[in-house]
Amino acid sequence: MIRARRARIVATLGPASRAPGMVKALAEAGVDVFRLNFSHGSHDDHAAALKAVRGAEMALQRPLGVLADLQGPKLRLGRFANVEIDVKPGHKMRFDLDPTPGDETRVQMPHPEIFRALRPGMLLLLDDGRVRLRVGERTDEWADVTIESGSKLSDRKGVAVPEAVVPVSALTPKDREDLAFALRIGVDWVALSFVQKAEDMAELKQIVKGRAACLAKIEKPQALADLNSILDYCDGVMVARGDLGVEMNPEDVPVAQKAIIRAARQRGVPVIVATQMLESMTAAPAPTRAEASDVANAVYEGADALMLSAETASGDYPLEAVGIMNRIMERVEADPLWPSLMDAEHAGMDDIDADALVAAARKAGEAQSTACIVVFTTLGGTARRMSRERPLQPMLALTPKPETARRLALVWGLEPRLGKEPASLEDVTDDAVSGAMTFGLAQPGQRILILAGTPFGAPGAANLLRLAHAPSKAKGARKS
Ligand code: PGA
Ligand code: MN
Repeated sequence: MIRARRARIVATLGPASRAPGMVKALAEAGVDVFRLNFSHGSHDDHAAALKAVRGAEMALQRPLGVLADLQGPKLRLGRFANVEIDVKPGHKMRFDLDPTPGDETRVQMPHPEIFRALRPGMLLLLDDGRVRLRVGERTDEWADVTIESGSKLSDRKGVAVPEAVVPVSALTPKDREDLAFALRIGVDWVALSFVQKAEDMAELKQIVKGRAACLAKIEKPQALADLNSILDYCDGVMVARGDLGVEMNPEDVPVAQKAIIRAARQRGVPVIVATQMLESMTAAPAPTRAEASDVANAVYEGADALMLSAETASGDYPLEAVGIMNRIMERVEADPLWPSLMDAEHAGMDDIDADALVAAARKAGEAQSTACIVVFTTLGGTARRMSRERPLQPMLALTPKPETARRLALVWGLEPRLGKEPASLEDVTDDAVSGAMTFGLAQPGQRILILAGTPFGAPGAANLLRLAHAPSKAKGARKS
């Protein structure tokens, strides 16, 4: 099965979707990468879900990625004696470190590092922005706060400090346990939530040690401000609009989305647009037209992948959500205006061999009878470089490594497949042509562009661009 569309779909697994039959149906409907959300579910749930994805992969003969999403340092209030309290603008109370259940006058905020970062006049956002308050007097152990807006505070509500970088480790003890578990069961991608700075990703990469690709969720204004240094440590990035939107005005979110996509595409770092894409489909079998437009916009922007969260994890219509997302994406990619709109963000060229090569391949691909591009890739670097050029021909990425194939499932336009390591130029040509024919990517006589690296069998950037032609007697060729 070869996908016609280039943009990819990430779907979150949860109670509504992690049964093996459903996972397979979702993959058939268009999911390329499955997200395991470690903010919910047990380790057993996630292990079972991963097994279901590997089963679907076998059944469909198509690499599927698995992304483990770590909860990250989400800061929270303590508990109240009566679960919740009523507040109103002007209400004053104190946050402190005392674990005694709170009331209208005080409550615990069990994070000494927040108290140290607070300054008088700073804004705090609680409960996803439903309650806003200002810091008054403070010490390293407590802070007096005044409610600016909002009507209720209740147990364990999230706390955001948009105006400061809070010196918390990006990985909580829970994250470290979840990460060790995720690596043990063999996920392909690890995402870190509430990244604030480049060091957070550096720390993650240091623990992961190449066992999975690492992705930063951009959901803090601080991360947005430091995006370029964060991208230095990223294999992928997510526009996490849910939490990002809490700390940002609505009008700033679309602008941030564009900025993150542009920066990521410049670097050739795959970028996912996430959250509320088809939110109303958690409870309805069809999306609003505004949601359809949001999905389409992300495709026009050239994002690598679009993500479904509650729609597939816990909603009533997971299959319908994937089906409709797939249709909207295919529809956009059939629009004659799509290539030029997407290419408004075209990445520049770095002065390295791989870029000289992929730029040449893209140019050569503009000739009409070029049917497809075949990239031989060991760790995926050359394939990602080729994808960054956003060529319109299908790209077959042949790799001897299953883990590379699975990681590349997230990347725009790539069709990763397992293939043996070529040992000679003849192998390169033969394998590329037979791959293109097997997957129905070239008609007899059409041109096939091939990217590979020499010496064969040694890892390293591609340095070879070769042309071949699909044989005119297409023996063995079939569409799949
Ligand atoms: P979440 O992250 O779904 O794990 O919260 C995505 C977002 O905040 O948009
Ligand atoms: Mn989030």
